[in-house]
Amino acid sequence: TRVRPSSKRCAVIGGSGFLGRHLVEKLLDRGYSVSVFDIRQSYELPGVTFYQGDLCDKQALLAALKDVSLVFHCASPSPASDDRALFERVNIQGTQTVIQACIESGVQRLVLTSSASVVFEGTDIKNGREDLPYAKKPIDYYTKTKIEQEKLVLKACDNQKGFLTVAIRPHGIFGPRDPQLVPILVDTARRGKMKFIIGDGTNLVDFTFVENVVHGHILAAERLRADSPICGKPYHITNDEPIRF
Ligand code: NAD
Repeated sequence: TRVRPSSKRCAVIGGSGFLGRHLVEKLLDRGYSVSVFDIRQSYELPGVTFYQGDLCDKQALLAALKDVSLVFHCASPSPASDDRALFERVNIQGTQTVIQACIESGVQRLVLTSSASVVFEGTDIKNGREDLPYAKKPIDYYTKTKIEQEKLVLKACDNQKGFLTVAIRPHGIFGPRDPQLVPILVDTARRGKMKFIIGDGTNLVDFTFVENVVHGHILAAERLRADSPICGKPYHITNDEPIRF
């Protein structure tokens, strides 16, 4: 019989990134040993093994997934990029490669970081639930490929084979070491370009503190069992209160 990988070894694909590194730190706190797979290595930490490689490269992934039972996939090209071919290659074909590598390695659980924008059609959404349909006209190419990526991961969920998947959909994420959101807001304000109101001043936008996003990922991973209703489903994640601008 095949030996099942230890349940406390996990891999974070995209673990060098903003969310990925917070996730890695929390997993270490909770007693997991962590393999990070990323195209770059941005830090070193005791208890973390780094594997540098492109997630489109199945052989490179297989090396990192050896003895791993749980995988978090939070790698993506930056949404600011306008490189369609890159989004397609990494988010769609690459995610297919991640799924194949997980199945071949005997990984039992895969948690995807998706995005709330997969249901955003250009009109306001308040208290939007997961039964909203995918956007028919996604706002950009990044979102289009995030939709395809999420579909692939959720479709791959297979109780019979013992390969279980779930997706977490944050909107904006803020917190220590955020490379984009707050630095860009501050920079724009400094240049005097924030002196206008979009709409009538009652608009809300959803930002979630990075540790809450991490908490959601870990809860989903730990609840992902064959008899669980969360198998193959996406979940929006937010703080208690939206931020008013
Ligand atoms: P980030 O850019 O800080 O991290 C992404 C990581 O993925 C980077 O370390 C990068 O090197 C790695 N990566 C990119 N292409 C790769 C490839 N081909 N192979 C291996 N690694 C690769 O981004 P983040 O803000 O931490 O986002 C993490 C995830 O959360 C992404 O899936 C993103 O779509 C999602 N998300 C982020 C936000 C946000 O506000 N930051 C909101 C919603 C969803």
